[in-house]
Amino acid sequence: MNRNKIPGYRALHYWVQRNKGSAATCQICGKIKTTPKSIQWANKSGTYLRELDDWVSLCVPCHRQLDMTFNRKRQLIANLGLSFKLEESDIISIFQEAKTGKNYKDIARTYHVDESNIRLILNRKTWKHVEVQL
Ligand SMILES: [Zn+2]
Repeated sequence: MNRNKIPGYRALHYWVQRNKGSAATCQICGKIKTTPKSIQWANKSGTYLRELDDWVSLCVPCHRQLDMTFNRKRQLIANLGLSFKLEESDIISIFQEAKTGKNYKDIARTYHVDESNIRLILNRKTWKHVEVQL
């Protein structure tokens, strides 16, 4: 995703900074801010919503790594001990994986969410609005 193409990206960053203060330490490697821009706020989910929980403070190398690929991002978020926010497309994939006979535990591990979440999704207790055709 090219962040320069996201409308209001800069404004959103200012908003995060206003609400969370300036980023001081990297939440992945623990590096402490040395120059004004050495630690930055990064968006976890890539959805760029105005949700404060969706932002983590990262040093430039970790931020770059986080931006690499979606799967890499999931992995890093999991390493931080944070749960990953599922998206509609994930729900469909979860149903497809369950259909192949994969167990809840493995699916949960793949998506970095709790097994109970997977159970709720597959039993159509949550994410009911997502249409799944198999
Ligand atoms: Zn770092």
